[in-house]
Amino acid sequence: MKQISLFPNEDNRSPETVTWNLWSGCTKVSAGCAHCYMYRKFEAVGRDPYVVRKSGSFNLPVRKLRTGKYKGLYRIPSGSHFYTCFSSDFFHPNADEWRETAWEMMKERSDCTFFMITKRPENIAERLPSDWGDGYRHVSIAVTCENQQAADARLPVYLSLPLFNQSVMTEPLLGPVDLRKYLATGKINSVSAGGESGPEARVCDYEWVLNLHRQCKEFGAGFYYHQTGARLLKDGKEYFIPRSEQHSQAHKAGLDMVPSSATQ
Ligand code: SF4
Repeated sequence: MKQISLFPNEDNRSPETVTWNLWSGCTKVSAGCAHCYMYRKFEAVGRDPYVVRKSGSFNLPVRKLRTGKYKGLYRIPSGSHFYTCFSSDFFHPNADEWRETAWEMMKERSDCTFFMITKRPENIAERLPSDWGDGYRHVSIAVTCENQQAADARLPVYLSLPLFNQSVMTEPLLGPVDLRKYLATGKINSVSAGGESGPEARVCDYEWVLNLHRQCKEFGAGFYYHQTGARLLKDGKEYFIPRSEQHSQAHKAGLDMVPSSATQ
């Protein structure tokens, strides 16, 4: 029987969630990078994780046949959401030669949305495309702040940039973080918190998560408890949480909330 899409586009296919790794490999910049999963993954197969390389899926959103037409099933449907550059940092300087093409591809697929996270906000301003203006509406750039030091170094730069839909990831959360003076600007749409995964995971204190949740509530920002991490300290007891349960346990905490602007 022919399937009927509830959200048809020109291909009559439903939007997808896609991971798009344009390049991979990176260099560590702060405490949050200490146990980067990409290093574990690459070292396991004998690849040097410090070398930034263009990936085979570089042109994934716009792959076409020689005729210039999109390639049938390989054409990512309209309305799809791309999680971009999760094996590197989109603003790593060693990827400068490919970034202009990357922006062009995102422009071509303005029928989709793109999301990326960086620990290098100081590199953003001079690497935005010339027609960026106050931001492409379909591209969101979030910044990671794993502790207070990272927040105080990165957020003044990040919040000064012409970015649409600004959001902060406190993941892996390594200590208490006070975001009040940054939330007070009204520019931060949402904050996401999460612990660290993997064999060397550092402990995440649930009080740090609750504290961030309170701050977001106070300033009307959205909050998302993304995952517990492998080691969670709660009510004075440390819990070891298997990878398969880290997301679901976090959502059971019931802390997720949309920004107050979304409910007005
Ligand atoms: S910036 Fe991201 S990808 Fe690069 S080393 Fe740090 S955690 Fe890994």
